[in-house]
Amino acid sequence: MFDLAISGRNICTPEGMREGVVLVHKGIIVDILPNLPAAAISTEIDIGELVLMPGIIDPHVHINEPGRTDWEGFETATRSAAAGGITTLVEMPLNADPVTITADAFDKKAAAAEGQLHVNCGFWGGVVPANTPELEKLISKGVLGFKAFLTHSGIDEFPNVTGSDLHQSIPIIARHHLPLLVHAELTTNVQPPPVNNPQSYKSYLLSRPRQWEDDAIALMIRLCEQYQCRVHIVHLSSAGSIEQIKQARQKGLPVTVETAQHYLYFNAEEIPDAQTAFKCAPPIREKENNEQLWQALQEDTIDFVATDHSPAPPAMKEISSGNLMKAWGGIASLQLALPVLWTAARKRNIPVTRMAQWLCEKPALLPGLQKSKGRIAKGFDADFVVWDPNKQFRVTAEALHHKHKITPYMNQELYGVVEQTWLAGQLIFERGRFPVLNKGKIITP
Ligand SMILES: [Zn+2]
Repeated sequence: MFDLAISGRNICTPEGMREGVVLVHKGIIVDILPNLPAAAISTEIDIGELVLMPGIIDPHVHINEPGRTDWEGFETATRSAAAGGITTLVEMPLNADPVTITADAFDKKAAAAEGQLHVNCGFWGGVVPANTPELEKLISKGVLGFKAFLTHSGIDEFPNVTGSDLHQSIPIIARHHLPLLVHAELTTNVQPPPVNNPQSYKSYLLSRPRQWEDDAIALMIRLCEQYQCRVHIVHLSSAGSIEQIKQARQKGLPVTVETAQHYLYFNAEEIPDAQTAFKCAPPIREKENNEQLWQALQEDTIDFVATDHSPAPPAMKEISSGNLMKAWGGIASLQLALPVLWTAARKRNIPVTRMAQWLCEKPALLPGLQKSKGRIAKGFDADFVVWDPNKQFRVTAEALHHKHKITPYMNQELYGVVEQTWLAGQLIFERGRFPVLNKGKIITP
């Protein structure tokens, strides 16, 4: 007796694409067979030529609840995740209020999430200069790792750390074998040129030089080597750091790296002035830089791709003024993670199986979920996205479930339509509808 059988000709497994039947019982994949077995099955589905891929894992999402729920919230963010084929996300320790730097703040965030999760959600804790005594308390609450900034975070109550602060916190994090995620920009050595026109994208780009990233990553590699702590560089934008990351990994250091969809999809040369929807930090750089990011991704120097979904209300995004220097830095894109990456990847003849590595299998490693998530294999959770790689659609505000429909992808024609999303063997999204809601769980180690 099985709960569910999904048959199809394009099942994306770690060994490659195959035809067959995925059998599910009590939310777990129990077998993958060439044909339907004779056993009784409650629900049988044939998805034909559509792709069956593991549910997407996005370990870099800002939901901002409680406290800044007017920016984004658990209900809207996890609804857009479900619509985008994302079945697990990990939420950043900012920009909610309070920020997740104490055990008490963790409790407030977990309580706020209660009853509002349409997909699974885990939490990163925050490392700030004075919260070393809280780190083990946060670990016992269930954080999956920690996040720190080396430059101003945009949120005053989440101050950045310095190298010397990290000498206090890193040994604790290393002892628990958890990762330290780092926003890597170090502003101390290089002074960017003054900005004359705050609407000019070029001026904004020059205001956050590659060297800031490269210096910060060099510092983190040194700390990684000293303490053998798992260090993860979030949203790599500077191709100038690829070589030092490659060398660190050749030495066997536990450094991992993500980049974001927007650094792979857009190039600075095409970004119009005063379009604050494109503002993020570090910035989207020139084509020549971004081509190197693609190459590093294809060579596995960059491990995976995460959205860094970080929305803000229209006034904070300075939509009417177009002031790139004042606007909130953050791109809203959670629901579009798959089609954006696929649209850019298919032009490069990258196969769907590689997408599954970048969006499912490898991001599962960072929060330690690799034993249950990120693969279609026996014993893994029955979290799936069913999608059509050949179908195109245009991004419209009506189809987006994010709280604010501000995104640089508006009106883009994208390939890759999410037809269904399954969470633990339950259909949670199908062609614009949500058959069941609130099936997500809080993920702890
Ligand atoms: Zn972020």
